[in-house]
Amino acid sequence: MQLPREGVVGNGTIESVAEILHRLGFSKSALIIAGPKTYLIAGKTVKDLLEKEGTEVNTFLVETATVKDVQAVEKKIESLKPQIVLGVGGGTKIDVAKCSSARYEVPFVSVPTTASHDGIASPLSSVKGFEKPYSVMAQAPLAIIADTNIIMQAPWDFAISGCGDIIAKFTAVKDWKLAREEKNEYYGGYAASLALMSAKLVSQNAEIVKPDNEEGIRVLLEALISCGVSMSIAGSSRPCSGSEHMFSHALDIVRPNHPMHGHQCGVGAVLMACLQRANWRRIRDTLRKLGAPTNADELGVEKDEIVEALMMAGTVRPDRYTILTEQTLNIEACEKLAKTTGVI
Ligand SMILES: [Zn+2]
Repeated sequence: MQLPREGVVGNGTIESVAEILHRLGFSKSALIIAGPKTYLIAGKTVKDLLEKEGTEVNTFLVETATVKDVQAVEKKIESLKPQIVLGVGGGTKIDVAKCSSARYEVPFVSVPTTASHDGIASPLSSVKGFEKPYSVMAQAPLAIIADTNIIMQAPWDFAISGCGDIIAKFTAVKDWKLAREEKNEYYGGYAASLALMSAKLVSQNAEIVKPDNEEGIRVLLEALISCGVSMSIAGSSRPCSGSEHMFSHALDIVRPNHPMHGHQCGVGAVLMACLQRANWRRIRDTLRKLGAPTNADELGVEKDEIVEALMMAGTVRPDRYTILTEQTLNIEACEKLAKTTGVI
């Protein structure tokens, strides 16, 4: 198990970045990976704070999160040999930093500027252009510094996406249980409980997960970090990613200009909960309460794209046993499922 050593969540926590790196024993040199925007939002602050304490800081800005970006960052790491890599940004920049630092076994610190998905604290990374359309093992962040003051300034839609990614754990854990029952797959009760607890906490606190409510954002961030930790404990994305994520990955393929990850996973959870004979209405109602999309219209995709993604979902990840392995859906079944749940 590779677990984060520090998780700092709260207003102004970015100010403690130098102190945290010093405590962890990495105050000589650092490489900051950020996007052009996130550099201005938080990257520059991190750079200034570290330099003030005498750390040699290099910065590398990436526009996108593709294999090419990862390779460019890897080259940078190879030549600069920083003690530590900091990923400052939304999900994608963190993915690039995580993935490239893992290759050179340089520890990595996550400084999220949005709360859009659980990759901010997980050991997995998802990069466009990889062989697989889903996340692969990289390394867990050594520390996560989540400043609510910065994250609250991001468009609210990012937080909604984070909520969808969390609610998706209800169906993900159910799929994992199914794999244990049907395939005798390893099932980690502790990791599963942790992921499930995050989903329950966000559901119970749906009323306060609202813009400008710091307590609500904190609940969401703690849930995202707990989910990241649950994947570290499980050694895979199993507790956090089941058939609903496969639906989301399929929609990524069907619609290249697709909605945010968590928005898709939330709708996926409504659909898969129905297949699992679970309480899909409760999942839908919770998403509604959180202000998250629950159907094709709200998601901003065509009805036939939903059906196409449903048809494809079962083939996205053949190694993972889920409700979609158990029930192969033809086009009529896909349409029926999408209509029954009100998704189309
Ligand atoms: Zn996810």
